[in-house]
Amino acid sequence: MSELVIEGLRAAAGGKEILKGIDLRVASGEVHAVMGPNGAGKSTLSAIVMGRPGFEVLSGSVTLDGADVLAMATWERAAAGLHLVMQYPTEVPGVMLRDVMAEAFAGRDRSADGLEELLVDEARRIGFEDRFLERALNVDLSGGEKKRNETLQLAVLAPRIAILDELDSGLDIDALRHCARRVEEMTEHADGGGEPLGVLAITHYSRLLDELEPDRVHILADGRIVSSGGPELAAQLEVDGYGAFATDTHASETDASASALSGLL
Ligand code: ADP
Ligand code: MG
Repeated sequence: MSELVIEGLRAAAGGKEILKGIDLRVASGEVHAVMGPNGAGKSTLSAIVMGRPGFEVLSGSVTLDGADVLAMATWERAAAGLHLVMQYPTEVPGVMLRDVMAEAFAGRDRSADGLEELLVDEARRIGFEDRFLERALNVDLSGGEKKRNETLQLAVLAPRIAILDELDSGLDIDALRHCARRVEEMTEHADGGGEPLGVLAITHYSRLLDELEPDRVHILADGRIVSSGGPELAAQLEVDGYGAFATDTHASETDASASALSGLL
């Protein structure tokens, strides 16, 4: 079994503290939803876990099966089994998806025999037209096609733990269903018979969770997890909105952490 463990994570970008102490554990086969309003720090959390440049860890730890993720280069994190489905997939003119996948396999000492069949098979499973496999990565794809493309890469690479940063943004209801169902299947069983996928699903709508069933739901507001619970928490959020979980009572704490931060930067 694999486990991603985030403990006491505080992080900053642009001189501002964004994550103010996050604790999360995601194990193989589990789906943890992190829900929160715009600007809560959801994408920052994914950036820190994957090692995106421009973000600074102030304190805390991130480990994958005990290995120090924060000490690894981004490619090492990916090779270790972490994968990010990006909120805004990048267009890469001149680079074909199959070449990216072949390089990723090589980076994992995995044979690329059968890769072509795997790509075609996975594309069919999520309703991604084969002809898009001939295009440069994400170039001239619609929002929904880009997210299908991201899901295809996830399914082909079969990482240990995946972070989905708003898989549900910018795609229509059919694409959402296809992508969410494929991820749900991966969390139930691995095709190769290995461990099922563990998922950290970042979203601000509960509709993703109709297909991708969360074991735990965490509400992130102003850089903190302000509530955690079962799937019923997502349903409650749909009724009450994020206002019910507001964190403006933390003003004095925020001032204290801001001065602690200025000492660190
Ligand atoms: P979410 O994904 O929950 O909408 P983000 O993690 O993208 O939120 O952003 C959280 C906060 O951090 C926002 O106020 C945003 O403006 C700020 N932020 C994000 N990235 C940077 C950056 N590189 N420099 C400065 N501020 C940033
Ligand atoms: Mg975001």
